[in-house]
Amino acid sequence: MEIPFVDLRSQYRQIQQEVDPAVLAVMQRGDFILGGAVTEFEREFAAYCGVAHCVGVDSGYSALELIVRAYDIGPGDEVITAANTFIATTLAISNAGATPVLVDCDPLTYNIDATQIEAAITPRTKAIMPVHLYGQMADMDAIRAIARKHNLLVFEDAAQASGARYKGRMAGSLGDAAGFSFYPGKNLGAYGDGGAVTTNDPAIAEKIRLLRNIGQKVKYYHEVKGFNNRLDTIQAAVLRVKLPHLNDWNAGRRRAAATYAALLADLPLVTPTTADYAEHIFHLYVIRMADRDALMEELKGKGIASGLHYPIPIHLQPAYAELGYRRGDFPVTEAYAEEIVSLPIFPELDDEKVAYVAEAVRAFVLARAAEKMPEAVAAD
Ligand SMILES: *Cc1c(COP(=O)(O)O)cnc(C)c1O
Repeated sequence: MEIPFVDLRSQYRQIQQEVDPAVLAVMQRGDFILGGAVTEFEREFAAYCGVAHCVGVDSGYSALELIVRAYDIGPGDEVITAANTFIATTLAISNAGATPVLVDCDPLTYNIDATQIEAAITPRTKAIMPVHLYGQMADMDAIRAIARKHNLLVFEDAAQASGARYKGRMAGSLGDAAGFSFYPGKNLGAYGDGGAVTTNDPAIAEKIRLLRNIGQKVKYYHEVKGFNNRLDTIQAAVLRVKLPHLNDWNAGRRRAAATYAALLADLPLVTPTTADYAEHIFHLYVIRMADRDALMEELKGKGIASGLHYPIPIHLQPAYAELGYRRGDFPVTEAYAEEIVSLPIFPELDDEKVAYVAEAVRAFVLARAAEKMPEAVAAD
């Protein structure tokens, strides 16, 4: 059996009857740039997230960077985020000219440890950017309480959390603004790059509309120095077809996660914890164990793909040497970087395939345990 990490082709086959005509219709209409499907998708995604505004952009990274810029956060300002995130989170902050200030992760949920945020606040802090990592939302009530107390903004990095909930409320609706990614492998993936900003603030939505479109609302009249970060009409057409399926797909991921959890429960490894406030959508299914690298090799030999999210924490990346952090600064993040491994998960991963992966993990773990047994016991 071959088990890929994600299976974009099988999902395409499911929706081909819907998505092919939607893409062809864009070509027939010819409204390739900020066409009808972009406006429609923005309306539909805002409604889905339960917010007033959605602005389609060309990637999750752009969504986050435009948020930072729209709030006039730049040189001399600091934004607090997690040390164990994907680099796009911190690039959005530093490419806007501001400084990312990192905080370690919670040992159970892998999200930013809210109890450590206040210690990272300085007079230059402008915002907190929690990342809803692996598809489980950060502890937003705790984060919002800190933000309120210190007069800070909250930006959600919801790139991995399309459709996730916190105490029943949707990702993208709990901060001042949120950035989503529609990278093909994300829970709501386009057929190329894409992203969106959600917000309830009409002025910020308007400013991001200007910034994504070279600073113009009226053609050739440029109110500000903008960028070219528009969501493609063809990608919006794909996303419009996919959005109505998202809840079912996320339920499929949750089903696969529950099966993994049941099959791996008795092994000496750590399966994901879902906080009682969260509806986890399992963008990734991340376990922790010793001998992680050897497990990945073993899985590969059995045709099973696996991944690392992420192998090197932000503060140990050469790109961020300038921040002046050292090894030891974020002990939980650092320890976990050596132990994490992401098993295949996608909506179409059925119980038989989950069982095949779980069986391979079990065989590896038991073989390792036997190797490590003292001679006397083994000889018994
Ligand atoms: C994918 C991702 C992004 C960036 O999204 P792109 O669409 O690839 O630019 C940002 N933050 C996190 C946590 C992500 O997983």
